[in-house]
Amino acid sequence: MFSVITSPCIGRKEGACTKVCPVNCFYDAGEQLMIHPDECTVCGLCTPEGPVNAIFPSEEVPAVESAFIQKARNFFAAKTPEELDAIRITP
Ligand code: SF4
Repeated sequence: MFSVITSPCIGRKEGACTKVCPVNCFYDAGEQLMIHPDECTVCGLCTPEGPVNAIFPSEEVPAVESAFIQKARNFFAAKTPEELDAIRITP
């Protein structure tokens, strides 16, 4: 399980959520922010921080947003460690 950022983040990327993550697992994925599935500890700290209510634990993602679970997995699977270092968001 990991936390998933869904469609309300597209075009917004407010970023308040990134400031509370204890493991810095937010990345700039272009049109939206994304959380690394293998790094997120599902601590829940980021969920209430986002002003657009876009973050859900993967097992609680609304059905209409479920494609964002695989979208995140595919995004990170396609990246090299160097590419990830370049887009990791650090406070
Ligand atoms: S649930 Fe915790 S570890 Fe996962 S992205 Fe949010 S703040 Fe980071």
